[in-house]
Amino acid sequence: MGNPLRDRRTPAELAACGQVIDFKDKITDFVRLATIVKADLDALDPAKIRPDWCDAEVCGRLVFGFSDAQFGLRAERPWPTLKGTVTTTIDAVCQRCLEPFRLPLIADLRLLFTTDAAMSVADGGCEVWELEQDTLRPLDLVDEALVMALPFAAMHVDDATCQGPDVLEEESRARIRPFAGLRSQMEQDD
Ligand SMILES: [Zn+2]
Repeated sequence: MGNPLRDRRTPAELAACGQVIDFKDKITDFVRLATIVKADLDALDPAKIRPDWCDAEVCGRLVFGFSDAQFGLRAERPWPTLKGTVTTTIDAVCQRCLEPFRLPLIADLRLLFTTDAAMSVADGGCEVWELEQDTLRPLDLVDEALVMALPFAAMHVDDATCQGPDVLEEESRARIRPFAGLRSQMEQDD
């Protein structure tokens, strides 16, 4: 028996057998997500990086089926769909205080698979997913969904644990001041 998260199959095959995938895997199996998390942490003092960040688990359930929505005149057959939710907790660097913290990520997948490039809008709240190949690895879709769920700028949600913008501002002012002093000195020399 194969591993349904890792095996390459067509969406139609997965939908036809009503494939349900419950999984719990290490974050390092999700290469794109793990690469981004590592690059983010690499900016830190190594002493501040929790060595077990790479043991974080990614859990989820994926359910394949067929769309029951109608797509006007194009609805000559139902398209395969994937619905599911995946969660993990990554280590990230807070962009406000530049300290590491644990950031929960949740991604909802509602995808409709089509090879019809003309179909750009899907009903039923599903996002159209155009396949570049006939087959897919469910793991790659989970990886991509989690990468897209990353916030633009990761920050502590809880202000009490964040050392806050005031601290950062004072630090940067202290760093900027010597340059400002040098600049005004040069202007006086001119
Ligand atoms: Zn913070």
